[in-house]
Amino acid sequence: MRKLYHFHGGIHPSSNKTQSTQTAIARAPLPSLLIVPLQQHAGETAKPVVQAGDHVLKGQLIGMPDGFVSSAVHAPTSGTIAAVDMQLIAHPSGLPNLCATLIPDGKDEWVPLKPLDYRNRSTAELQHLLRMAGVVGLGGAAFPSDIKLRTGKQKITTLILNGAECEPYITCDDMLMRERAAEIVQGAEILRFMLDASEVLIGVEDNKPEAVAALQQAITASSLNHEVVAIPTIYPGGSAKQLIRVLTGLEVPSGKLPTDIGVQCFNVATAYSVHRALAKGEPLISRIVTITGNVREAQNFEALIGTPIAELVALAEALPDTDAYIMGGPMMGFPLPALHVPMVKATNCIIAASAKIFPPPPPAMPCIRCTRCVEVCPADLQPQDLFWFAQSREFGRAQVFSLFDCIECGACSYVCPSHIPLVQYYRFAKSEIRAREHDKQLADQARVRHEYHELRIEREKREKAEKLAAKEKAAQAAKLASAQPLTPQQQAEQAELETSRAHIRELAQSEVEHTDEGVTK
Ligand code: SF4
Ligand code: SF4
Repeated sequence: MRKLYHFHGGIHPSSNKTQSTQTAIARAPLPSLLIVPLQQHAGETAKPVVQAGDHVLKGQLIGMPDGFVSSAVHAPTSGTIAAVDMQLIAHPSGLPNLCATLIPDGKDEWVPLKPLDYRNRSTAELQHLLRMAGVVGLGGAAFPSDIKLRTGKQKITTLILNGAECEPYITCDDMLMRERAAEIVQGAEILRFMLDASEVLIGVEDNKPEAVAALQQAITASSLNHEVVAIPTIYPGGSAKQLIRVLTGLEVPSGKLPTDIGVQCFNVATAYSVHRALAKGEPLISRIVTITGNVREAQNFEALIGTPIAELVALAEALPDTDAYIMGGPMMGFPLPALHVPMVKATNCIIAASAKIFPPPPPAMPCIRCTRCVEVCPADLQPQDLFWFAQSREFGRAQVFSLFDCIECGACSYVCPSHIPLVQYYRFAKSEIRAREHDKQLADQARVRHEYHELRIEREKREKAEKLAAKEKAAQAAKLASAQPLTPQQQAEQAELETSRAHIRELAQSEVEHTDEGVTK
């Protein structure tokens, strides 16, 4: 029995998970159109390689990775590209992004797939294949997985698969583990192979006994020695640093990454996608998404990336008093700017919200310094101090108090008796600091450019003067070189001439002196 550890704080909100785990994962029907954002992940937007009017097959590349932190994007079905333009997407910023709109032809016809045996390929090749298959983290951040596998000289001892799924309402990972455990285990083995890790731990909260049993069975059947560990159900136990702490007892130091302590973490759904990408040759074009909340029938659907959220919500039948839709969970999710936005690789859950489910919070009151926020903070921070610094715009002090270690889990806001929306203050402070750092970076770049410009002008002036001097010197030398040498006779005549000139000058001088004497006398 593995020894488990605790992290500081944590809370126990109502899980609200049973509503969406009563039925098996359903395949969402082909939508009327697909809007596929070319930025599905953290980092650079993929470069479009299709244009309006192109016919594409399912799984065909439509966005080429562009930059180090970038990942490919593919057509989720066969059909015709209707447009490549800016569209509103599911993002907290509410800003539009470049998207390819695809009208399905109904045939759902695949490109020729190229499955492979990962054991015959180098790690570098596998990293490239995952980048080109568009595999990104499906736990929420959607960071390109190939980057997390490029650990350089860092030795990875432990690979952790995150199946904790601690946030209320979300059950997509739970259902995936119950129904597709064998593929998750195979994906974990590919990741272990690529990282050369010594052990694989799959952490699952103990409120998911069916998932734990399914994984255990898959591991036994595969003869792999991965270990499924049921961990205590406490929010936010699924956050990477907290999960690492619980499973290994190790702390990821402030400002460091798990790889710095020899650990790497992937979500269970990411491991599943890795297996599909390599063993089946299928790029990441769909995912499991929980549709829940104020709906007639909460359920998990396997849906194509780019499906308009409105079409997904219709499958679960949102109730008439629904007044908003949240992407993600109630603790860390954000309200959707509109219902026609498409689902993306990071869309794990859509919650139909109503005043009945999420009553509007009472007005915020002043902080009473009760320190309840401190007790529950899993990052061991001082949330009330961070709140003061953010409110008074003392961003430097907020940074000193480790603002960037805040994982925005919302546990502090959840317990605050003054109903202060603390996380909103932390997000505001972080975005201000990032904006200032960005401005400073731009100013530094402009200063360096100006200094370089000045240096260049100075250098050009100097080079011009040097060239001019060299030219004059060369002309002088040429003049001297072109002069004819005198013959002996000419030299004798020249000497005679010089003697005569000297004689005349002497005579003239003595005459002047003589005249002067006469005048004087
Ligand atoms: S829980 Fe709220 S009221 Fe209490 S110290 Fe924290 S911010 Fe202040
Ligand atoms: S949101 Fe940040 S400050 Fe609040 S409990 Fe979570 S980690 Fe701590």
